[in-house]
Amino acid sequence: MPGLTVSKLLLLIFVVLAAWWLVNGFRRNRAAKDAAEAAPEQMVTCAHCALCLPRGEAIAEGDKFFCCEEHRRLAG
Ligand SMILES: [Zn+2]
Repeated sequence: MPGLTVSKLLLLIFVVLAAWWLVNGFRRNRAAKDAAEAAPEQMVTCAHCALCLPRGEAIAEGDKFFCCEEHRRLAG
């Protein structure tokens, strides 16, 4: 029965493609989620005293970061 074999083959291809698409989509979502969660934890170094602190707590000036307003002022 060649007709049945082709149908099964097409079904198998469809299932494999669907599974591949699902896994790929899941991985992409997970990677994007990991990147979003990792972003706030990025550490920067104070250009004056070399203290490490989260980027969100640092004071940025140009491409440099400082741990506090005083160090930003002293470096400038
Ligand atoms: Zn500092």
